[in-house]
Amino acid sequence: MTQHTDPCHPETVRVVASHQARARQIAAELAAIAATGMVLPGSITQRRTRCGRGNCACRADPPKLHGPYWQWTRKIAARTVCRWLSPAQREDYQAWIDNDRRLRDLLGQLEELGADALDADPRWQRQPEPASRRTRQTSS
Ligand SMILES: [Zn+2]
Repeated sequence: MTQHTDPCHPETVRVVASHQARARQIAAELAAIAATGMVLPGSITQRRTRCGRGNCACRADPPKLHGPYWQWTRKIAARTVCRWLSPAQREDYQAWIDNDRRLRDLLGQLEELGADALDADPRWQRQPEPASRRTRQTSS
């Protein structure tokens, strides 16, 4: 973002066309994902487990662990919540998790656009220099 607003009229922050175009692209994709309603926080991980039976193959050397099982994990406040999923559920809900990741990514891109616009604000160059003003005040 290189275009600046007119320094003579700094009261209006004009957003550059490329910024607006990108924001519209992001908004369209955000809306499309939201409209599906298929959004799930957290992650799905594969687990292989050992059981309690001492003579089971999962205790052998090398061990033959049970599974794979699928576990959905999410954070609620500081607490981690887990649920076991069937393979079919895992297949269905992975796309929901991917959608959630994409929403967060898009929101991050939108925030980056805002941060870039703030950086490009020409009023940064019009700030008074506190040091010279302080000198003037003390000398008069
Ligand atoms: Zn076992």
